[in-house]
Amino acid sequence: MDRDRLAFDQPRYVRVMRHPGLWEELPECQSCMGQGACEIEEAVPDYRSGSGYLIGRLGECPECDGRGYVEHVDEA
Ligand SMILES: [Zn+2]
Repeated sequence: MDRDRLAFDQPRYVRVMRHPGLWEELPECQSCMGQGACEIEEAVPDYRSGSGYLIGRLGECPECDGRGYVEHVDEA
């Protein structure tokens, strides 16, 4: 793990090309640190007991849909 990277709490930007020839700089997703995947909680139903439980597993980041970046948000 990169310690220097963790020390800075400011958003990083990633360059993405969503349209041919058009580069955009979008804020890196803070939930997954731009990885597109993070630990998510998944409900596992237990049919025997009728209840269930949660497990943590690595899955597609729900904040950015696995893209690693988020859309620009206009701050009021
Ligand atoms: Zn994410």
